[in-house]
Amino acid sequence: MPKTNLKGKTIEELQDFLTSLGEPPYRAKQIFRWIYKGVTDFDKMTDIPKSLAARLKEISYIDKIKVYKKVESRKDDTIKYLFLLQDNEIIESVKMEHRYGISVCVSSQVGCPMGCAFCASTIGGFRRNLTSGEMVDQVLAIQEDIGKRVSHVVVMGSGEPLLNYEELIKFLKILNSPLAFNISYRRITVSTCGIVPEIKRLADEKLPITLSVSLHAPDDNLRDRLVPVNRRYPILELLDACKYYIIKTKRRITFEYTLISGVNDSKECAVKLARLLKGMLCHVNLIPLNPIDERDFSRSKPENIRLFEEIIKNYGISVTVRQEMGADIEAACGQLRRSFLDGVKK
Ligand code: SAH
Repeated sequence: MPKTNLKGKTIEELQDFLTSLGEPPYRAKQIFRWIYKGVTDFDKMTDIPKSLAARLKEISYIDKIKVYKKVESRKDDTIKYLFLLQDNEIIESVKMEHRYGISVCVSSQVGCPMGCAFCASTIGGFRRNLTSGEMVDQVLAIQEDIGKRVSHVVVMGSGEPLLNYEELIKFLKILNSPLAFNISYRRITVSTCGIVPEIKRLADEKLPITLSVSLHAPDDNLRDRLVPVNRRYPILELLDACKYYIIKTKRRITFEYTLISGVNDSKECAVKLARLLKGMLCHVNLIPLNPIDERDFSRSKPENIRLFEEIIKNYGISVTVRQEMGADIEAACGQLRRSFLDGVKK
């Protein structure tokens, strides 16, 4: 029998596991706490009997991802990490410092199947889903590395989190658990390119997390090109799912809109976008494009970004331009992993 990895199991799953060994449920709590303190050796769990530690070693283990490479920004305190997984896959995560705390951007998949036109994560294709343990471990490894607690988590790294639904939910529950990270759901953001049925499913979970939807275009023609999943779930269906999400969770949705010069940054686009979103409980986050070598897209001019923002604002919609962090270290959207994989090929 292959050994079971205990990292990434929710407290309920761990209780079931220990009950099946004839142990009382409180043991699960003890072990759960140790795991998210970063302990991987059962012998170091000082409040469990030696016999149980020995038994656990025979049938289970606590996985740990390895820091493969670390790049620190000279401009701000952003650090980009490449992590090595058990099966030698590489993923990336980013740590950012803000006035309000420390946030970590985690990946949810190795590579990405979505094919968005301007994103580096999708270029090498999709490899596999990450387990909840591997998602948790990105946060844990970063906390360990910097010696500080992470206060906010954004699932905005490589991958489409809503295509890895069960593992994502387990991950969110572990982040939120007072026995583990104790991070409030309000400090957790999940970003999706718009998988309609899964947005509705997430709404029904009623977790008060922030949902971020990658819109990037105000009409189906353009969005079909930039975010190909739009061909399956067009804008009006997507917005319906968003409205359902807002009703169920009473949370404001963030719409991400990456501004690409001459593609989606015209005044007309801004007006169309504003008309589309007017009246919704939402916020628009304009992202200056991080151009990638493989694509011919460039960033909008600062004056166009300002004008775009102004138009949205004039419609009474809350809007901000994303502050850039770590641009000097390829901290954007799968770029570091991408350039690493490129280097391996050469
Ligand atoms: N699959 C999810 C989460 C990962 S992408 C999603 O699509 O939301 C996180 C955000 O970064 C998305 O809004 C994505 O469209 C955006 N993004 C990807 N590549 C980018 C780039 N080169 N420049 C600016 N934003 C980018």
